[in-house]
Amino acid sequence: MRIFLSFLAVRSAGLVKLPVPFRISAFRFVSSYTSFNLFFSSAALFLLIIILQASCYTLPPETSNKYPLLRLQEKYSIYLDSTWTTKDAAALLKVFEAVSPDILNPQFSSWNISDDALENGIKIELKDKSKHVTISRDALPTEESQGIASPEKRLFHAVVQFITENGTNRSAIKSIMKKRYGIDVPSHAALPPRTKNNTAKGYSDFGNDDLMLIMSVLEEFPQGLHKTPQLKYIVRRIDTEEKGISSAMVSRGYITFAESIFLRHRDHGDGLGRFHRDDTRKIIAHEKAHFLWWYVFDPQLKKDWVKLGGWQQDLTSESGWSTTQERSAFVTEYAYTENPDEDMAESIGFYFIYPDKLRACCPAKYEFIHNRIMLMYGKRWSPSNPM
Ligand SMILES: [Zn+2]
Repeated sequence: MRIFLSFLAVRSAGLVKLPVPFRISAFRFVSSYTSFNLFFSSAALFLLIIILQASCYTLPPETSNKYPLLRLQEKYSIYLDSTWTTKDAAALLKVFEAVSPDILNPQFSSWNISDDALENGIKIELKDKSKHVTISRDALPTEESQGIASPEKRLFHAVVQFITENGTNRSAIKSIMKKRYGIDVPSHAALPPRTKNNTAKGYSDFGNDDLMLIMSVLEEFPQGLHKTPQLKYIVRRIDTEEKGISSAMVSRGYITFAESIFLRHRDHGDGLGRFHRDDTRKIIAHEKAHFLWWYVFDPQLKKDWVKLGGWQQDLTSESGWSTTQERSAFVTEYAYTENPDEDMAESIGFYFIYPDKLRACCPAKYEFIHNRIMLMYGKRWSPSNPM
């Protein structure tokens, strides 16, 4: 049996076409053995190893790395052209699996990479009844972006554009809101009973573009903070001059946004103040931050923040708090006059949207949020939420 194996190995070795110098050294190596059996069994083993190695070398080098390409085809009907490297394909697959783990009946699409700068990093075209997608190269993670909290952020936004059909597919938008951020978007006519002043007349439905804007802000938070189980849904309340509400407010389990903060570029002639898009984004980040303060941050973190802001409890003050520090040490008047919770919410809003302003007024607060919150929770991810 051993001889037969050796024979097979030697026969097969002939097919491998080893380079001549290598074959000579192999025979020199085994000739030092005195036992005939040992000679053949060792030679067989040695040659089998060479055959196995040689069989790897005969395949194209990228074959073993085709998993991302094949997976994208199989699961999402996405076909990548030759502009994609295996690394780029792996980044795209990672984002797809994070955004939409169970997309159903996806339409065939072919994808290429372009050096052109594209709005949202993506261009989707319908040609010959199939989708052609161009991703701009600067949306892909690079070597330099590996050190930051979420190198795939730009690619994420591009993929969300694709899955939501440029923000027009409402059920896809609602599905991402629910699966990635744990937030429901109920119809204004069927709000959960606990919603305050709950009449369909008082509320309106979010537009798809409102929800895309909200998602873009929620995505800014590190992966460990994307879902806050106590933040269950969001509502959009009609604010008129008679029954105006503040831009937004938090209640148990949900956030109420004033309709006016989303009506940015529309002129209704009703005299209501218009919001800049970034101000709306800051409000969204601010409200989300309240849920973190209430339900996520540990007591030590809050204690350290209170100390950093010079806060002390003060029963003579309307908010129950006062600070020993000057107004200039706070990012807004509101952060200064309220309490540590509002100071944190305002500071987080500025951290994302106007970071230079926060760095300028309050460098220690900027560092606190960056190191103690963003970097810390950026590391706390689970396999079900891989980016
Ligand atoms: Zn607030």
